[in-house]
Amino acid sequence: LRKILLFTLLLSISNSKCIYDIVEKLKSSYPQIKGCKDNYLIFQDGTKILFDDEKQKSFNELLNNPDIEDMFKFKYPLNKIIPSKNFDPGRIRNDLFFKKIYGKSANEVRKNLRYINWFGKKILVTKVNNIDKKLQAIEKELKKLPKGYRKFLTPIGGTFKWRYIAGTKRLSVHSFGAAIDINVKYSHYWKWSKDLKYKNKIPYKIVEIFEKYGFIWGGKWYHYDTMHFEYRPELLK
Ligand SMILES: [Zn+2]
Repeated sequence: LRKILLFTLLLSISNSKCIYDIVEKLKSSYPQIKGCKDNYLIFQDGTKILFDDEKQKSFNELLNNPDIEDMFKFKYPLNKIIPSKNFDPGRIRNDLFFKKIYGKSANEVRKNLRYINWFGKKILVTKVNNIDKKLQAIEKELKKLPKGYRKFLTPIGGTFKWRYIAGTKRLSVHSFGAAIDINVKYSHYWKWSKDLKYKNKIPYKIVEIFEKYGFIWGGKWYHYDTMHFEYRPELLK
């Protein structure tokens, strides 16, 4: 009997890898997700992605081969921080997940793109999950800030571009039209620094406005990218 109980217990553990809290955060952020069952995240179209591969991973393995659960490895902080070593909340992304939400190729993503206004210029972003409307609302709020903030916000570094992150085989969120780089001139990027010492000039007021609409900021990463904002509402819940 003990053996049967143990077997049943093990079976129920291996069948219930879906973590309720994570699944709820994903479901309430992305209407494309239906739920999670038997360790698979299930989309409305019936397709699925493995939730937890149960592998112990090094930091590089987390970046290069993350499952859905791994995307929540670091809790994105809602306050201003100086990130500690390898603290990169939001940098762990499962490519397949983003392809299912936004499109699996440049052409598929393009079908969902739309121009919005950004301080008098047109910029191209995705309509998926109303990201275009959210960015337009962000611009409206940013415009209300004192004039001194303008130089950080325009001209922008870029929005949509189907590309890999420099030196990797991982797709940038810019590939999906769900990210924006503000003015490069006042920004810092870890790869431009020799010692990885944290640097930032972007005023925190700007960060708070983006976060209010579901965008996380690359300035909260140890591998910082202070011009970069991307739509990741699941990490702000
Ligand atoms: Zn960027």
